[in-house]
Amino acid sequence: MIQRHPERSEGPGWRGGAPRVPQTIAPTTRPAPSRTLGITAALVLLCACATAPNSAPIDHPPPPPPEPLTTAIASRVVLMSFDGLGADDVERLKPKTILGIGAKGTYAQRVTPVTPTVTSSTHAAILTGRNPRDTGILANNFHQPGTAPGVNTRGMEAEIKKPTVIDYARRAGKRVGSVVFPTVDGSTPRRTPDWGLVWTTSVVPARVVHLGTTDFHAAWLPPGWGMPTATHRSFSPPLRARIEREREQFDLVGYDTTNDRVRNYDSFFVEREGSEQPVDSHGWFAVSTRFGDGLYGAWSKLVNFDPALTDVTLYLGAIHRNRGVPDDYVRMIDDEVGFWPGAADEHNVDRETFIEQSDRLSQFLSKATALSIRRMPFDLLLAYQPIVDTAEHRWRGVDEPVIAAAIADADRSVNAINAELDATRDALVVTGDHGVAAIDTDVHISRILAMRGFAPRWTAYAGGNVALFNRAGEPDDTKTLVTFLQNLATADGTKVFEKVEVEGDVIALAFPRFAITTKDGEPFTPSESHGQHGGSATHHEFDTLLVASGAGVAREDLPQLWQTNIAGYVLRLLGIGP
Ligand SMILES: [Zn+2]
Repeated sequence: MIQRHPERSEGPGWRGGAPRVPQTIAPTTRPAPSRTLGITAALVLLCACATAPNSAPIDHPPPPPPEPLTTAIASRVVLMSFDGLGADDVERLKPKTILGIGAKGTYAQRVTPVTPTVTSSTHAAILTGRNPRDTGILANNFHQPGTAPGVNTRGMEAEIKKPTVIDYARRAGKRVGSVVFPTVDGSTPRRTPDWGLVWTTSVVPARVVHLGTTDFHAAWLPPGWGMPTATHRSFSPPLRARIEREREQFDLVGYDTTNDRVRNYDSFFVEREGSEQPVDSHGWFAVSTRFGDGLYGAWSKLVNFDPALTDVTLYLGAIHRNRGVPDDYVRMIDDEVGFWPGAADEHNVDRETFIEQSDRLSQFLSKATALSIRRMPFDLLLAYQPIVDTAEHRWRGVDEPVIAAAIADADRSVNAINAELDATRDALVVTGDHGVAAIDTDVHISRILAMRGFAPRWTAYAGGNVALFNRAGEPDDTKTLVTFLQNLATADGTKVFEKVEVEGDVIALAFPRFAITTKDGEPFTPSESHGQHGGSATHHEFDTLLVASGAGVAREDLPQLWQTNIAGYVLRLLGIGP
């Protein structure tokens, strides 16, 4: 018996008033079976501090959408977040496993994210059931009160001011694993899982190198170079080039396999430390080395070569290593899944390479998550994949099939993880953090502030469609800035910001087609990327979705759900009470 709520609620905003966190907890319009499990009390506790008597609601929002029902307690709960997984894309592409899980269990077709719809704020909301104002994760970049003027605080790294599902799980004596879930980065005890991988950036960045005639050598082999004799038949002298960079060295060796009296190289192997491996049919090869603190490696690609090897293009992928806790868990991932392959390169690679990298990261994370489910003890597992978001930033509106490929990867991952779970005991909850809209213009807000005399007193902090402004000097011209931002328009007269509010700092939300950047540049330029998010959740392209199946999950369809309801749902599935 499913209640329909035809009138869409726009969800909690910056100010939010009534529909903020209490919605996670407030009695809904129907009896929730979970309440009979005595779990609601925990949720009431969750919100008690948010209902200060004198915080009068500023407006009267529509009634909240219903929360998902729970029918029992699951012995293990897996919460998977796919960054950028938008409701529109899922409706259009119909990924089989994701929709299949929704059809068997709970399908919330539209999850309204918090505003701003940036990754740090939305994941803090998923983890706490709270809005950015409560969690303190105001945006991906903002000025933290109490820090020096001009100091940028990154939303992904800032302390979340309200209890997270990890905090509640811990208090209940539950074990929490995490596979690169945002904000679960090991930086403080609260942000450290019992075991898990944390998101990591490259140890050595990717670069493209061009090799020419002088880089390749035939018979001459300096001491320590590769193999002394050719291991493959070659009708011209094998040619080798040595690649050396921090934590990596190898020889790229070319062979001529055609007996045609022409020096035309057509086959390549990578040699190091007396062993060799072929370059695969797409040009890829992996080089990894075990150091005292773990396995380091890179996936690199032979992008282009001419048969005479006078012009060879080599993409040297970024060198990465797994990071996480504890050491023996990370070692298990090193040994059985491999080194951290890194995210798809948003700048240096072509479409095909991007798709291959995206696919590789997705497979790595799927395998790491699946292995963790098999081997590690947990009650709550938080899992994350960035691939859909990464594809959307670069390809939204330009090459949608790349995004479809990333969503297909996400779907395969859900299938692989679901296969590890026992639906009679375990619950799987899959969601996104926001959708991604097409953009066409970058707004260089720092330059604009300087041109209009607002800088240096005012500093802008920006990312995606959102900018925050902090003032460090007198006079207080906040009203002047607000009016200026409200009227800021491009040359063709299009207004940039749809909402400008004063909330301590000045917070401005741009229309989805504008990305706000603090990088220097002319005030308005064609956008560097093609997809963005961060704008107001009133735009339905930022909607995401939720599907769930397994133990404790009801069979129901929900037209709309608030992102701030997810934390309470996960806690109810875990049966966590005070
Ligand atoms: Zn995101």
